[in-house]
Amino acid sequence: KFNTNVGQHILKNPGVAEAIVQKANLKPSDTVLEVGPGTGNLTVRILEKAKKVIAVELDPRMAAELTKRVQGKPEQKRLEVLLGDVIKTELPHFDVCISNTPYQISSPLVFKLLALPNPPRTSILMFQREFALRLTARPGDALYCRLSVNAQFWAKITHVMKVGKNNFKPPPQVESSVIRIEPKMGSERPGVSWDEWDGMLRICFVRRSRTMRASWMGSKEVLAMVERNYRVWCAMNDVALDETPVGEDDEMEIDAAPEEEEEWGGIMDEDGVDDIPAFFKEEQQRIAREAGSKTKSKKKKTRVAELVREKIRKVLEDVTELADKRAGKCDENDFLRLLFAFNEEGIHFA
Ligand code: SAM
Repeated sequence: KFNTNVGQHILKNPGVAEAIVQKANLKPSDTVLEVGPGTGNLTVRILEKAKKVIAVELDPRMAAELTKRVQGKPEQKRLEVLLGDVIKTELPHFDVCISNTPYQISSPLVFKLLALPNPPRTSILMFQREFALRLTARPGDALYCRLSVNAQFWAKITHVMKVGKNNFKPPPQVESSVIRIEPKMGSERPGVSWDEWDGMLRICFVRRSRTMRASWMGSKEVLAMVERNYRVWCAMNDVALDETPVGEDDEMEIDAAPEEEEEWGGIMDEDGVDDIPAFFKEEQQRIAREAGSKTKSKKKKTRVAELVREKIRKVLEDVTELADKRAGKCDENDFLRLLFAFNEEGIHFA
């Protein structure tokens, strides 16, 4: 009956459902987004506490069952069911998000919630235990990754409770945890562009166990992408570029294909565990494609490439002194210093 390919693990323990809704501290005036309502075990409880529920469900059979569950009841008109993939759905405003999350969309859901111009006050989300630990991991922890840095940069993340697999029907293969995400608001919200910050972190964390020097200067793709971004910035700021060809062999072939398996392999971390392998694989392919797309044919290497390389060296070695540090050990302040230093050199990531 349940399709576990789309993460259909229904909460069968009413105590857990009750606790999740209670942890959201709902106000009677709240509009709540519920991701993946399934048969509505959480939905009916949220409707008791909030003004309105917007429930986004991928599976039409589940959506129909949920609609039937409230049919003819007073709460029917306070429930709006949107059929579709929440990641692709344009979301109306809501105050709180509650979800027993289909695990396949954990990472994109967190990023979607955090990137909203007007993010929800609180999100109470059930995740796989390991994903929850990644969200809360600190520098140096085995599970510290781009997700940890990003999530903690934009929000306060707390572990709310552990939930064993036998609370679900059918039980998933792994244990779960409920976490709370409270986005930083107002003056607490970092005055940094989301895309720039994430764009820089993507490069730092292609492999978190690499030194910054290796991540930034040891990959043709990254160097080509930084050069391309620098050229855009120069064009926008009327900075002239020295296009004199350089090097004995002044032809440089830049390929869109991965340079070597070790470098651009499908996993992000040295321990071989990924949040969502397909998601990051797509990201890595995108980076490689972007780097290669404009420069795929034989291209003359000019002084600009040298200049960009020197700028990166200066940022890593002289300004931030992070060249020998590994991304997995860098904290938020290190990444902030890095971004500001790159920006000072006219290097941007969005
Ligand atoms: N909320 C219910 C509960 O706690 O008993 C069901 C949770 S079940 C873990 C996840 C639900 O999300 C399923 O009903 C599934 O069909 C739905 N779903 C899966 N992928 C989705 C997506 N991309 N967008 C919206 N809903 C999705």
